[in-house]
Amino acid sequence: MIIILFGAPGVGKGTQAVILAEKLGVAHLSTGDAFRAAIKSQTPVGQLAKEYVDAGKLVPDHIVALIVEEAMSAKAFANGCILDGFPRTKAQAEALETMLESTGQEINSVVNINVDDSTIITRLLQRGRADDAEDIIRHRLTVYTDETAPLLQFYADKGLLTSVDGIGEVETVNQRILDALR
Ligand code: ADP
Repeated sequence: MIIILFGAPGVGKGTQAVILAEKLGVAHLSTGDAFRAAIKSQTPVGQLAKEYVDAGKLVPDHIVALIVEEAMSAKAFANGCILDGFPRTKAQAEALETMLESTGQEINSVVNINVDDSTIITRLLQRGRADDAEDIIRHRLTVYTDETAPLLQFYADKGLLTSVDGIGEVETVNQRILDALR
């Protein structure tokens, strides 16, 4: 079972992905978390990714592929996983298709979480991660609109896309996602 959680930075993908992975008994891959961990432990991938993550830019696709392939080859992923923050470009979506063809897995559902930009900015400023300064947040939102949002049509055309309202209590939003998956 492969489920993609989709949406702009700050819509709550990470929070929801952790809860869903637990409830559904599958693995969870956050490419953002994977990059932050790699940067912290100064691995080769971390050293390549750091300047992009710090600036709120997309890490180049070939570097993203390294981290995703490594994560998805782990045993825990054989049952499936919740993807959070990947794919973010058309090239990444195509790379994912190729990866899944080789493992014989399929994307079951793509759940788009909707939150308006002003709520996103308020939430991220409160979170206060290193890349959560207001100018970097605005840049990440622009990158989302330009590079990532077009994937919504790609998945809608495949009949895989559903959308949920991301405003409300964490548990309420989680229930909406579970309903969307039925
Ligand atoms: P958010 O969704 O709040 O921006 P993430 O933790 O998902 O936070 O991502 C943080 C940063 O990690 C991104 O701004 C980007 O630099 C990098 N990143 C994460 N996933 C990807 C990806 N699939 N492709 C390119 N860069 C990525």
